[in-house]
Amino acid sequence: MPGDVVDVLDAGGHPVGRGYYNPRPGIACRLLAGPGEAVDAALIRRRLAAALEYRRAAGLVPGEPGAYRFCWSEADGLPGLVVDRYGPVTVMQCLTLGMVRLADAVAEGLAALFEGQRVYRLDDPGAARVEGFEPRHGWVPAGDDSAVTVPVTEGECALIVRLGAGHKTGLYLDQRENHRLVAGLATDRRMLDAFAYTGAFACHALRAGAREALLIESSADAAEGARENLAANDVAARATIREANAFDELRTLTAGHERFGLVVLDPPPFTRRKDALDAATRGYKEINLRGLRLLEAGGILATFSCSHHVTPELFEGVCRAAAGDAGVTVRVLATLGQSRDHPVLLAVPETRYLTGLLLQRV
Ligand code: SAH
Repeated sequence: MPGDVVDVLDAGGHPVGRGYYNPRPGIACRLLAGPGEAVDAALIRRRLAAALEYRRAAGLVPGEPGAYRFCWSEADGLPGLVVDRYGPVTVMQCLTLGMVRLADAVAEGLAALFEGQRVYRLDDPGAARVEGFEPRHGWVPAGDDSAVTVPVTEGECALIVRLGAGHKTGLYLDQRENHRLVAGLATDRRMLDAFAYTGAFACHALRAGAREALLIESSADAAEGARENLAANDVAARATIREANAFDELRTLTAGHERFGLVVLDPPPFTRRKDALDAATRGYKEINLRGLRLLEAGGILATFSCSHHVTPELFEGVCRAAAGDAGVTVRVLATLGQSRDHPVLLAVPETRYLTGLLLQRV
C-alpha cells in the first residue's frame, strides 16, 4: 500500500535497506533505514538526536531566539521531513505520504527534545497533491490556529516570522550564512535587494552600514513583511520597497543608468523540471546581465539559483555569458551555497539545490 515501509533489494536479491513506498511521485521509494532496521519511534528519535548533534558540533545552533534548519530530509536520514526552529517554536513539514505516517512519532520526538516548547505542523500543499495526502496545518497537539508571530534573531538582525503566512516554513534559512557574508561587504554601499521576500539581505546590509537599499518584491504579503522587518531593525528610513516585477524593474533601472555598490539577485526557482532548463537559463541570464550593468566599478553582485537542476557549473556559465553580453569584467570572490544547516550528502545530489556566486566588477 502507498506509504508502507518495504524492504529494498538490489538486482541480486541482496537487502539494501528499508524505505517507504509510494508509486505516485517520481521516486517510488525513499530509504529510511538499514537492512532489518526497525522503522519506529526509536529510529525517529535517533535521527533527530543525530541532526541536533551535527548542528551543535558544527556551531550551527544559534543562541535564543535564533532560527535554523534542524532537519533537512534525506540529508538528515529522514526523507520527506523538514524541521526548522524559530526561537521557542519548532516547525515541522511533511513532504511525503511515508513521512505523514511517521508524523506523530516525529512530533513526539521533537517535543521530548525541546521540552516545554511548542511544535507547529505546516505540511507542503504542493507535495501533498503529488504524494496523495491531506496536508496538516496548525499546532501539535491542536490548539489556537490563528496566525502566530514569532520574533527571531539572525545574527545581529531581527526578523519576524508569521507562522503559516509566508514561504517555506517562514524564512529562507538556506540563505542564513549568505545574509551575513553579504552584509560584511555592504558598508557605505548603495544596495539593491531584488526578489527580496521579507528583506533579510537588506536588513542585514543596512544594519552593517549600507548607505541605502532598494528592495524589489512582487508579493504584497512579502513586501509587508519586509516593511515590518526594516522597522524592527530601525533601518526603514534608509530603505525603499518597490512592490513590482523584478524583471521590469531591473530593465527600468538599467535604462535609467542607475548604479549600485551591491546587488543581490535571489529569485525563486525558475524551473523545477529538467526539460524546462532552457527557459530557466534565459531567465537567469537576463537578470544577471541587468544586475551586472547596474554595478558601479568595484561593485559586488551576490547572485543565486535555487533550481535543483541548475548546477554550479551551469550557473557559472550563465553568469559568464551575462558578463560577456554586459561588457564587464568580473572577478569571482566566492562560490556560494546553502547554509550548512542544510547539509549536502555526496551520494544524494538532490540534497544540494542552492548555488551562488559572489562577483566583483573590476
Ligand atoms: N532573498 C530572500 C528570499 C527570496 S525568495 C531572503 O533571503 O529571505 C524569492 C522571492 O522572489 C519571493 O519572495 C517571491 O515572492 C519573489 N518573486 C518571485 N517572482 C518575482 C518577480 N518576478 N519579481 C519580484 N519578486 C518576485
